[in-house]
Amino acid sequence: MRANRLVLPSSFCWNRDCPDYGLVDHGNIVKYGRTGKGTQRWKCKTCEKVFVGNKGTIFYGLHHSPEAMLECMAMLAERNGLAAIHRIKGIKEETVMDWLRKAAHHVEEIEAMLLANYHLNRVQFDAMWTYVGHKGEKADISKSLTEAASGEAQPWILTRG
Ligand SMILES: [Zn+2]
Repeated sequence: MRANRLVLPSSFCWNRDCPDYGLVDHGNIVKYGRTGKGTQRWKCKTCEKVFVGNKGTIFYGLHHSPEAMLECMAMLAERNGLAAIHRIKGIKEETVMDWLRKAAHHVEEIEAMLLANYHLNRVQFDAMWTYVGHKGEKADISKSLTEAASGEAQPWILTRG
């Protein structure tokens, strides 16, 4: 349940259709030049998709570490309540809810980061988004996204330990 180090967005493939999606240190990601603005680009050798190194925007402006934010999201996915997270992590309930609402605007990004760092599966992601739904916010957005994803043949559940 605990990530030893934060897996950076540039260290795994973001393409959900890729066999190597979310796999870290898998040897499939290589540097692929830079954009006109000098931003590093990365390419997945498996699916040939190119990514620009601007992922991780969800962590901008946090007053806590990205690790703390991710860990709280992972705890929600593991069905820990906000009170339990406050008790264990010392992070206020409204702070965690702010993060969750922010995450709802970056579904692809937060799920990829959680997958890479905590090896969470689709069911756990759904549990996390359901939590937003219970608060009556962003439920429609996350629900439609998760329903769309659930229709696929579970590419989410990785057996890699
Ligand atoms: Zn790929």
